[in-house]
Amino acid sequence: MYKYIPANESRFYEELFSLLRIPSVSSEPEHKNDMKRCAERLCELLLAAGADKAKVYKTKGHPVVFAQKTIDPARPTVLVYGHYDVQPVDPIQEWKSDPFEPEIRDGAIYARGANDDKGQIFMHLKSFEYLVATGQLRHNVKFIFEGEEEISSPSLPEWIAAHTDLLACDVILVSDTTMISAKVPSINCGMRGLAYMEIVVKGPSADLHSGHYGGAVANPANVLCEIVSKLIDKDGRITIKGFYDDVVELSAEEREMLSRAPFDEKEFADEIGVPGVRGEKGYTSQERRSIRPCLDVNGIVGGFTAEGSKTIIPREARAKVSMRLVPNQRCDKIAELFKKHIKKIAPKDVTVEVIEHHGCDGFLIPVSSTAYQAAAKAMGEVYGVEPVPSRGGGSIGILAEMQQLLGADPLLMGFGLERDFIHSPNESYLLDQLFKGMQSIALFYKYYDR
Ligand SMILES: [Zn+2]
Repeated sequence: MYKYIPANESRFYEELFSLLRIPSVSSEPEHKNDMKRCAERLCELLLAAGADKAKVYKTKGHPVVFAQKTIDPARPTVLVYGHYDVQPVDPIQEWKSDPFEPEIRDGAIYARGANDDKGQIFMHLKSFEYLVATGQLRHNVKFIFEGEEEISSPSLPEWIAAHTDLLACDVILVSDTTMISAKVPSINCGMRGLAYMEIVVKGPSADLHSGHYGGAVANPANVLCEIVSKLIDKDGRITIKGFYDDVVELSAEEREMLSRAPFDEKEFADEIGVPGVRGEKGYTSQERRSIRPCLDVNGIVGGFTAEGSKTIIPREARAKVSMRLVPNQRCDKIAELFKKHIKKIAPKDVTVEVIEHHGCDGFLIPVSSTAYQAAAKAMGEVYGVEPVPSRGGGSIGILAEMQQLLGADPLLMGFGLERDFIHSPNESYLLDQLFKGMQSIALFYKYYDR
């Protein structure tokens, strides 16, 4: 691959740019046809790279692209997941060049999707092409590229559930995330899940005069605060009964590995403008936001919130609450536990309702897995340093769903960097990362076995 890249570099740019020029903004209905065009262009590139077949599948929303090459059914199968849809470009005036006319400057490609995720899926196409062209491909490879990642994949779960045989694989390989830095390459081996809830406390049938009734009736806003204040104890532990039952404690060795990622507590606090940090006792800030679950009020409303004062007891107060979950905790179960707990601690002089919003599970790939080990070896060789395992605090719901439906672990080999400004104006992708990504992926296939 070291020689293959320079020999084909200008063609690589042409091909990647042909994808970047298509404004496949999934959230904007006027781009519906661009979504189809982009899916079709991907099919062409997949076939040209050596896929046996590639097809655009209709879904209820934007199409899914699926392609595969079968070497030998007895060999391991790698499923590459990615997305060809992109975020909108607003505010357009902040772009230094046309978001849909890619430009190379200062060693990076500038365009919407340059990194997220067209640039990153392109690395997979080219590593695959190289392995096919040089007769080195030893694995069956499948590709699934969706067009709805940026709008939370509404149609994909149903499509996957209907095509589990087609998608059967040993590992799901994903490049749609970042690494810590080009000097500290990292492999993301797990993400958190999410349970999103809303608490509604209802009191009197109308707002009451706080002078006439104050002190003689439960105030829904006060009660809501009482309830919320009871959800986390003084050690930063969530008090919901059974909440931690399925949390897998990490071994000292695993925690040590994760702590190798550079992290400065003071810098962390300064960056977000807080005078100090807080969280579950016994864990570092880095652990609290990745390997531990948490509960946060996302918003709280009720009563009089306009300027000035108005003396009332509100009839209602609401809080939206998110719980980030760790792998093995199931969002459905946690939502049930949350509802039960709130009902239990709710005082009887108000009505308390709990609404369940969306949720998703977390996922994890063990560092000891052959896929992780192969990726680490590959990236170590390309970057000259052993990559560190990292855990993401956010959620990619579709990957947990794929893990459950297909029975294979997702491995996140992401080559993006913080500096790429994905989702923002002037999104870019460093050529160095693009090419190192291709090399790493090609080596992953070399080292990976079941
Ligand atoms: Zn993405």
